[in-house]
Amino acid sequence: MTGLVTVVGLGPGDPRYLTPAASEALASATDLVGYGPYVDRVPERPGQRRHASDNRVELDRARFALDLAASGARVAVVSGGDPGVFAMAAAVFEAIENGDPAWRALDIRVEPGITAMLAAASRVGAPLGGDFCALSLSDNLKPWEVVEARLRAALTADFVVALYNPISSARPWQLGAAFRIVSEMRGPDTPIVLARAVMRPDERIRILSLSEVEASMADMSTLVMIGASTTRLIERHEGAAPWVYTPRFYGVRP
Ligand code: SAH
Repeated sequence: MTGLVTVVGLGPGDPRYLTPAASEALASATDLVGYGPYVDRVPERPGQRRHASDNRVELDRARFALDLAASGARVAVVSGGDPGVFAMAAAVFEAIENGDPAWRALDIRVEPGITAMLAAASRVGAPLGGDFCALSLSDNLKPWEVVEARLRAALTADFVVALYNPISSARPWQLGAAFRIVSEMRGPDTPIVLARAVMRPDERIRILSLSEVEASMADMSTLVMIGASTTRLIERHEGAAPWVYTPRFYGVRP
């Protein structure tokens, strides 16, 4: 029997945003592998083995899943959001590229999920209506110089920028440094969205200007979105949050 590894995106949190295909992959797995809080999101099924681990060891977790599959298991590796966005799918392929040649005979599938950036955008309007890019602010796997150079390039190109992994107790200063770079390159009224725990019970969305925002307002469950020069707010009645959108039309028909 050929083993199977499916890297499954669980979406942002609310189970209604899990795709039916991802649900099927979870239901038919003999083994679940993933970071503890993600494994906890999947309902227990009799006979299905659960292997929860901490968040620091993605490659080890990928190798473990591949070993299980090589012995015939149907393994679901779970990730929050989309598994291809700063998550386990790349770790699985990295492990295959550098690992046991027998792993190349395995059936490997990726089931997409709604990534945090899209969930966050849907909560505030249409901030990603124009061109945009996503950066992980984590310098665990790449040097800070690379993060900074990419942020400057994205701002120069006037993209809306979605920042994943903005801050954590192990990386306390990077978001503040990023906001200082943004302040050098964009005006003080630039809209900033802090979307925390989107589509989870403790969701909190804040829409601020660059001059108001502080790094301490975000945590590791926050997706930070930096508006482009064209991103706008539509003010509403007192007490209602404005809508944030980036028009597609540039004012000049091509
Ligand atoms: N694969 C995930 C991203 C993993 S990186 C995805 O596609 O969404 C982890 C980062 O994602 C967090 O630090 C945070 O910036 C963001 N994130 C993940 N889920 C989120 C949610 N529900 N709300 C806000 N941000 C989230």
